[in-house]
Amino acid sequence: MATQSLIKLIFLGDSGVGKSCLMSKFSPDGCHTQHMKTIGIEYTARTIDLDGEPVKLQIWNTAGQERHRKIAKSFYQSAKGILLVYDVTDELSFTEIINWLRNIEEDHTNIKKILVGNKADLDESKRAVHAARGQALADEYNIKFFETSAETNMNVEEVFFSIARDIVLESKASRV
Ligand code: GDP
Repeated sequence: MATQSLIKLIFLGDSGVGKSCLMSKFSPDGCHTQHMKTIGIEYTARTIDLDGEPVKLQIWNTAGQERHRKIAKSFYQSAKGILLVYDVTDELSFTEIINWLRNIEEDHTNIKKILVGNKADLDESKRAVHAARGQALADEYNIKFFETSAETNMNVEEVFFSIARDIVLESKASRV
């Protein structure tokens, strides 16, 4: 019997950018995620059918705890993917991601990353970060980029499937 792949993903990004909502949208039951209040960590899991293979995604949202480097390191160690989320209406949240990308590179961690510009449903007049800037940052780090909306469900499935597919393909390639 084929063993089911298990992929641990973590969210990074400023408070309020929509990490929790993106996670809830992707949750199997639509909105309930477990919240470990005392340590401020949310968790959900969903098994997806990835090109005919079952893949279990474990998703963690450290809800700001990653600011403490010790916690961040312990999370990175077992994670296979990081979803870097900013809010397209919040310039500072984008700057935060640029800083995070630098730190992750410094740590030499070999984790798949994906850049996510959330709240793309909001009125264009509120937009602070144009999609071209998100794409340019993603290109600089050779990672994928999606604009999403947890509100309208735009690209939510696509983000998780995309990073899961890249992780699975890479692990298959490394076994050859
Ligand atoms: P977190 O701190 O990053 O986990 O952010 P939350 O998921 O708690 O979301 C913060 C706020 O942004 C909440 O009021 C959400 O309703 C709102 N929000 C999250 N995602 C979206 C989105 O895609 N579009 C809009 N318009 N609001 C969003």
